[in-house]
Amino acid sequence: MTLFELAKQNICVPDAAEYYGLQVNRNVMCSCPFHEDRHPSMKLNERYFYCFGCGATGDVIDLVARLFDLSSYEAAQKLAQDFGIDPDKPPAAIALPKPERPLLKAYRQEEVRCLRVLCDYLHLLEGWKQNYAPANPDDSLDDRFVEACQMLDYVEYLADLLIAAELEQRVKIVEMLNKDGLIAGLEERLDRLNKEDDAHEKQSAA
Ligand SMILES: [Zn+2]
Repeated sequence: MTLFELAKQNICVPDAAEYYGLQVNRNVMCSCPFHEDRHPSMKLNERYFYCFGCGATGDVIDLVARLFDLSSYEAAQKLAQDFGIDPDKPPAAIALPKPERPLLKAYRQEEVRCLRVLCDYLHLLEGWKQNYAPANPDDSLDDRFVEACQMLDYVEYLADLLIAAELEQRVKIVEMLNKDGLIAGLEERLDRLNKEDDAHEKQSAA
């Protein structure tokens, strides 16, 4: 069985959604993470999700791929790791539910948050590197371009580790990111930049 089949067979969409921090209600619906959604309009079926607001749909791998902006293979890997699925073991042995420990759950939410912030930052930097690159060799360098050049590799490296490293290593990274409010500061800054962007768009639309 491929990693894709294993992940799809063993992890249902509602479980994955809950695991990655979406609030699933009694009707097995949640607010759609892919559009501005005030009331839950995403239906989570066992094998696929569907958003009545924006039409987003797919299986459990698509959900995780879109949530964290991963390739399908990376998403399948992440699911296998987070849900303790080992491609080398027969499916019967891995279908057992894992005991839910409150500390672990709190840690996981923190990890998901860190990864989300890192991925947002990564996309911002990728945009900056393209959009603010100097047109001529003599041009003075835009701060955003400089930041992108300095930070891109490192941020990508951290995000990769959070996706693929062993739990022990991930815990260390999350610890480091939380030290001195690093991730909270970055989150705030990204929020602020987003709002500024929105304001610009509204201004130019008006
Ligand atoms: Zn939607």
